[in-house]
Amino acid sequence: MSLEVHMFPCLSDNYGFLVHEPESGFTATIDTPEVEPINAALAEKGWKLTHILNTHHHFDHAGGNETLKAQWNCTVVGADNDAARIPGIDVRVADGDRFEFGAATAKILEVPGHTTGHIAYYFEADDIVFVGDTLFALGCGRLFEGSPEQMWNSLQKLMALPDDTVVYCAHEYTQANAAFAMTVEPDNPALAARVEEIDRLRSAGQPTVPTSIGLEKATNPFLRAESESLQRVVGLSGRAAVDVFAETRRRKDDF
Ligand code: ZN
Ligand code: FE
Repeated sequence: MSLEVHMFPCLSDNYGFLVHEPESGFTATIDTPEVEPINAALAEKGWKLTHILNTHHHFDHAGGNETLKAQWNCTVVGADNDAARIPGIDVRVADGDRFEFGAATAKILEVPGHTTGHIAYYFEADDIVFVGDTLFALGCGRLFEGSPEQMWNSLQKLMALPDDTVVYCAHEYTQANAAFAMTVEPDNPALAARVEEIDRLRSAGQPTVPTSIGLEKATNPFLRAESESLQRVVGLSGRAAVDVFAETRRRKDDF
């Protein structure tokens, strides 16, 4: 509604995001993948960093926390159940909490699976969700700490958001994800059309992020455990969605 999101590349394939709320003048960085590009983006926009909103503890998400906090004296927000691994954490949030960010509000969604303490920030009034490494365009995070059941539950929470919700994921992994997706759902016309669009964007040097919940539900194999053609390809026709998801994730790990 009123939030401005500024996206820029960090490290080899991360995205950095600044979120600016104009009434309060607050500016948050979603995670801290790399200090210099974050500071360059702040300078470019003329914004002062007031908050760090961490999705999870991995170094390419929280590695810049201490430097940026020392520089800007900003407030660090992170998962209560993972506070020990979030450097400089000031505000601990949990599932269902509403974090007031000036005139905007982020609803906290606990989405364990990639890590046990992973959270997403859902700005409901603005139709925006920051999902970190839980959901990617045509992909989902690796299960480093959580079980397939946990990750499937987390993905279902995100799938329950409105289709037009804008999804900011933390990496540009889309072309590699697309190659895998085509192996498990080769006869999905929406997927085939999207892969063409992705190739066009990437050859023009354009990002494929953000995406949307509706587009992911139509094309992302990790959200399509109910698809009969996907079930057939992974040899689990008629099986429970969580089993189909687990097998699809396992195949991607070996892809
Ligand atoms: Zn991660
Ligand atoms: Fe990451």
